[in-house]
Amino acid sequence: MEIKFVENKNKGKLPEASALGFGQYFTDHMFIMDYKDGKGWENARIVPFQNLSIHPASTVLHYGVEIFEGLKAYRRKDGEVQLFRPMENIRRLNRSADRMCLPTIPEDDALEALVKFVSTEKSWVPSAEGTSLYIRPFMFGNDESLGVHAVKNATFVIIASPSGSYYKEGINPVSIMIESEDVRAVRGGTGEAKCGGNYAASNRAGKRAEQKGYSQVLWLDGVERKYIEEVGAMNVMFKIAGEIVTPKLSGSILPGITRKSCIEVLKDKGYKVSERLISVDELEEALKNGTLEEAFGCGTAAVVSPIGELCYKDEKFIINNGKIGETTQMLYDTLTGIQWGKTEDTKGWTYLVK
Ligand SMILES: *Cc1c(COP(=O)(O)O)cnc(C)c1O
Repeated sequence: MEIKFVENKNKGKLPEASALGFGQYFTDHMFIMDYKDGKGWENARIVPFQNLSIHPASTVLHYGVEIFEGLKAYRRKDGEVQLFRPMENIRRLNRSADRMCLPTIPEDDALEALVKFVSTEKSWVPSAEGTSLYIRPFMFGNDESLGVHAVKNATFVIIASPSGSYYKEGINPVSIMIESEDVRAVRGGTGEAKCGGNYAASNRAGKRAEQKGYSQVLWLDGVERKYIEEVGAMNVMFKIAGEIVTPKLSGSILPGITRKSCIEVLKDKGYKVSERLISVDELEEALKNGTLEEAFGCGTAAVVSPIGELCYKDEKFIINNGKIGETTQMLYDTLTGIQWGKTEDTKGWTYLVK
């Protein structure tokens, strides 16, 4: 694939690690290409970071046809920069595209675009402990008409944002509220696609949880409101009487790459892992009889996020005395070890960006 390059002559500066936060600063360039009806993907380019100009009737603004991905570039101790399982993100992007009738991107082209872009922005990958360059590929329907139909034109963009350490003051367990009114997704809907619309629909419950002092919501299934699905932007796992249980990918849950990686690491270490339906009643029972040993969310941003408190219908439960459990800590150490190149990658999960 030919990628045109227009250099940003007015380069910015990477802020201090302590000032980074999440998603506030952007690098000097962006990757962009257009999908034109009857022509396919064209005009791949890396250009100075800038506002997009789209038609006021653009599909994305009215009918929400948008998908995205999230992955990170990590700076190793030896100064090299690497990605974590980028092909998994590319394959998921194409599965999300399929679901939304957006055009898919040939895997090799998507990888080339991603790697060339990250290579261009390499100086923006911070090096302080726990920091990374968060990469956000996204695609939206861009027909210039209000007619409702599968889109014929689309735009694919990659932007990147240097981000600070998720855990600045050590790994603090979070408090989570089990949501029993709103639902995030239903089987047959768009829950397993990484699309903006899922987030739009989840904001109300998120806001209510925040007002009650909880950081995120734990979703129940959209049909019976009985089975555990996932937490905010993370998948969820529980350790019940020594066994790891996590909701199976039923069609309404986002298939997380961190989830997949955790399962592989757990199995390697000899844990019994079950992907199955977990009812909220089973969870409540395990909370009450003390067999729920650990609970944690897992996703690219936090890697793992221990859950110290769960609230269900105004009843509060403390998990593992509000502390991170040994299995959660092991997963954190193993995955971050591979991601930042501190431990040997025996799984072939890292991708060196030259
Ligand atoms: C992105 C995302 C996750 C986590 O996926 P990772 O690939 O592990 O980052 C989980 N749930 C939702 C809803 C998401 O959007």
